[in-house]
Amino acid sequence: MGESPRIGLAGLDAGPISCALRLEAPGEQLGELPLPFERVELEVEIRRAGGEAVRARGTLGASAVVECRRCLVPTRVEVDAEWEALFRPSARITPGEEGVWALDAEARELDLAAPIREELWVHAPEYRECSAECPGLCSRCGARRADEPCDCPPPGPDPRWAALDGVRG
Ligand SMILES: [Zn+2]
Ligand SMILES: [Zn+2]
Repeated sequence: MGESPRIGLAGLDAGPISCALRLEAPGEQLGELPLPFERVELEVEIRRAGGEAVRARGTLGASAVVECRRCLVPTRVEVDAEWEALFRPSARITPGEEGVWALDAEARELDLAAPIREELWVHAPEYRECSAECPGLCSRCGARRADEPCDCPPPGPDPRWAALDGVRG
């Protein structure tokens, strides 16, 4: 497990703290992620939010290469999002409250691993495609139809459905 992304809280009483972080091994620094991200870039601003609460907000950029779900060609997908998280002493977090993370009153650093991991799960694209129009692979010969049209006849009705229709018939 690599170093998780942390921000020192010294000086927070004097005003907001801004910084930028670049995570070169996000899978090791953040824990299990939905995609094999190569790097994650964060811009963060943290400030006091009343009582012992601290609010962090910023932007999040991440990039991964995955297979197109239709034609299997390696395809780059990007995450580009704004995020926000609230931290409070655990005694002041209501069970089930969402978007609030624990921060000890004596903590000197804010650990962003858990909220950033959650943001990546929320924002990772569910359908990974090389393009919205990707025609996928020919189901008969396996050709990638976007760049090598084949002479296969178009797929007919699935014989299993035909059999079922006969039963319903
Ligand atoms: Zn594709
Ligand atoms: Zn074909």
